[in-house]
Amino acid sequence: MPIATVNPSTGETVRTFDAFDTDRIEECLATAADAYRSHRLTEFTTRSRLLHSAADLLESEVEDVARTMTTEMGKPINAARAEAKKCVKAMRWYADHAAEALADEHPAAADVKDSGAARAIVRYRPIGPILAVMPWNFPLWQVVRFAAPALMAGNVGLLKHASNVPQTALYLDDLFRRAGYPRGCFQTLLIGSGAVESVLRDRRVAAATLTGSEPAGRSVASIAGDEIKKTVLELGGSDPYIVMPSADVVRAAEVAVTARTQNNGQSCIAAKRFLVHDEVYDEFAERFTAGMAALVVGDPQQEGTQVGPLVSEQGRADLEELVEDAVRLGARTLCGGKRPEGFERGWYYEPTVLASITGRMRIDQEETFGPVATLYRVGDLEEAIDLANSTPFGLSSNAWTRDEVEVERFERDLEAGGVFINGMTASHPGLPFGGAKRSGYGRELAGHGIREFCNPTTVWHS
Ligand code: NDP
Repeated sequence: MPIATVNPSTGETVRTFDAFDTDRIEECLATAADAYRSHRLTEFTTRSRLLHSAADLLESEVEDVARTMTTEMGKPINAARAEAKKCVKAMRWYADHAAEALADEHPAAADVKDSGAARAIVRYRPIGPILAVMPWNFPLWQVVRFAAPALMAGNVGLLKHASNVPQTALYLDDLFRRAGYPRGCFQTLLIGSGAVESVLRDRRVAAATLTGSEPAGRSVASIAGDEIKKTVLELGGSDPYIVMPSADVVRAAEVAVTARTQNNGQSCIAAKRFLVHDEVYDEFAERFTAGMAALVVGDPQQEGTQVGPLVSEQGRADLEELVEDAVRLGARTLCGGKRPEGFERGWYYEPTVLASITGRMRIDQEETFGPVATLYRVGDLEEAIDLANSTPFGLSSNAWTRDEVEVERFERDLEAGGVFINGMTASHPGLPFGGAKRSGYGRELAGHGIREFCNPTTVWHS
């Protein structure tokens, strides 16, 4: 895959970049190792000052970076601005909370005594340069949610971003440099996926984090496993969105439209399968379909556009294949199901709702990365939970009900990294985020996220 900005709303190649050669990669690795040697010794106050400075700078540049993201991957401009602002918030959260999240731990006095120690402490120490392999769908956010905790922990970052968002990747490198970080604390490597293995195997790289597809995750985790290096993986999802009879159906249908189509439907935590109780199915289906059909599809740089193009021709072709397979096997198209008229260029696809889904259809088990929703009718709570858990994924889940007993069952039985009751899944700096099953492992954000790439060192004094 060439490293290039290709505008998804026109299909035009805007700018191409040469990949780094082996000498340049070696220079980056050496610089990262050097930077780590001094960054690991800095105080939290210094790290906090630097990260606040990066946050302030980003805040003053929201409009520019939002335009770049929209040009590179097609998200509506308003969503791009919101993404940049969320990054500012996460940077500030880590700048203000990292010291507390990594404070020394003091084991219980009885356990200290039992170990024969006069004193025992657990200290969270950094581990070194971390390689981040990141996707294009939230090109700023996915990186910041890795970089902010890594830098606050005293680690340094090496970013291998998706090949179609090089300008956002270079912006991040430049942002941290201008914020005052010493050379090598955060570097973008312009490399293709084929060059990841040698970087990951390099002895100076301590660990890796990857957000993206299952094949990419499997490859990076296998290589890291071979090198006995830790990984955090955030992969795909096919999140259920359950609506029970006691729910506020009007609100549930309204939120469902956003939950499915945020980021042009290309979000790992988008609700993708809508499991609706028989008693409220017809009302929900009607409202949800009307909401999806009413969305404004168009140029993502225009204010007011709600759904822009898919990221690439391949991305749209993959989605079309899933829809065609489902329709051929009996799915009913309640709205959409085709390319919109009036768009000769760009990779647009209509917001789509499919009903009468069966287990023979690929769409039942695979992730739909675009504005396509599948509707299922369920008879009771058990069926809803079974169906929710029936895919290989377990990223997050959503359930709408006012019944406390049902709430407890959803909290206990939904196999996912998150259970969102009467709302849609979203990530927040102070709440841990990640998946179960084949959606990955490890956690990002909150204290959990910063501790993933630390060495919790037991210090024992006789
Ligand atoms: P990929 O997983 O291919 O890309 C994500 C990142 O991984 C990119 O930086 C990519 O680099 C890199 N990469 C890809 N293959 C390897 C490999 N074998 N070794 C090392 N790094 C690798 O996602 P796609 O963009 O191809 O999207 C495909 C599907 O993945 C989507 O349809 C969706 O289902 C899922 N996906 C999920 C995301 C999520 O947020 N969970 C985000 C993006 C995609 P390069 O760009 O150079 O190939």
